[in-house]
Amino acid sequence: MRISEMELISPKSVLECLSYLQDTDRDIRLIAGGTDTVVQMKEGKGRPKTWVNIKGIKELRFIREEDDGIHIGPLTTHTDLIKSRIIQYQAQALADAAWEVGATQIRNMGTLGGNLATASPAGDTIPALYVLDAVVELQSIAGKRKVPIEDFFYGPRKTAINRNEMITNIIIQPQKTDEVSIFQKLGPRRAQAISIVNVAIRLRMGKEKRECIGGKIAFGSVAPTVIRAHKCESLLRVSPLTEEMITNIGKVAWKEVAPISDIRASAEYRRDMAGAILERGLYRLMKRWENR
Ligand SMILES: Cc1cc2nc3c(=O)[nH]c(=O)nc-3n(C[C@H](O)[C@H](O)[C@H](O)COP(=O)(O)OP(=O)(O)OC[C@H]3O[C@@H](n4cnc5c(N)ncnc54)[C@H](O)[C@@H]3O)c2cc1C
Repeated sequence: MRISEMELISPKSVLECLSYLQDTDRDIRLIAGGTDTVVQMKEGKGRPKTWVNIKGIKELRFIREEDDGIHIGPLTTHTDLIKSRIIQYQAQALADAAWEVGATQIRNMGTLGGNLATASPAGDTIPALYVLDAVVELQSIAGKRKVPIEDFFYGPRKTAINRNEMITNIIIQPQKTDEVSIFQKLGPRRAQAISIVNVAIRLRMGKEKRECIGGKIAFGSVAPTVIRAHKCESLLRVSPLTEEMITNIGKVAWKEVAPISDIRASAEYRRDMAGAILERGLYRLMKRWENR
């Protein structure tokens, strides 16, 4: 289908948008910032008859603190995340991850909802959402349902979103005062590059120097979906996070990951780099904790 033959609808409310999605006979697809969809369209993939442009739905762009966590609208851009004091102080890994997405233009256009729905194993915000215990709210005309982030991805480009649903909210658990988090990325170059390996870490710290009470680690780009590194996590509590302990945890990372080779890197390189980037992340996290 030629681009000039496509229809573009721009609903002004979630309800109006959901009414279009309800029409299952229609070949329809949502577009938010367009940074993934336009690239795919140019490659000849994903050319529906009708585009539903949701960028004008103001009720989907917000960051606010609620009793059950921090609520983030799917149209929140990466730049919005970076600028938000709530995210900077209570979800550091997500602020870091948003900062690592593309370059300024992509961060201004690209949205959190789009990054999630694209479901790339290399999507930078996703590991951060794992360690922040995100829950994705999906809405259809029939109502809302909540899907924990670890159940949201079925594989590359495959998610729990049904044909008649859209993401309307992402709820994350803020860091407590004894917690600290970070996101680290290894890409082929500084900007505009998709991750070769990325990792998010969230730790709960004790009263003693470098004492860690527990934490979560999530790797991206090393398996068909983002994965938790449970073996590494179990070592976090064994002893203070000394240099030796951090090296040991890094060495365990290769047992957790099952990467593939592609144009960006070989599986072996990814496996080695997973350990290296985890070590780097833990060092930087200790610095962040000590300088808080
Ligand atoms: C040059 C360049 C560099 C990039 N660099 C990075 C990078 O470093 N890291 C990274 O992670 N990504 C990167 N990306 C990918 C992209 O920018 C991000 O994934 C971005 O967050 C996508 O958001 P969007 O709003 O543009 O999504 P869109 O392109 O508008 O949509 C993407 C998908 O999400 C669906 N969708 C959007 N909103 C919703 C919703 N509310 N509910 C249900 N489905 C929805 C759309 O239907 C579509 O399938 C890059 C892209 C480009 C072009």
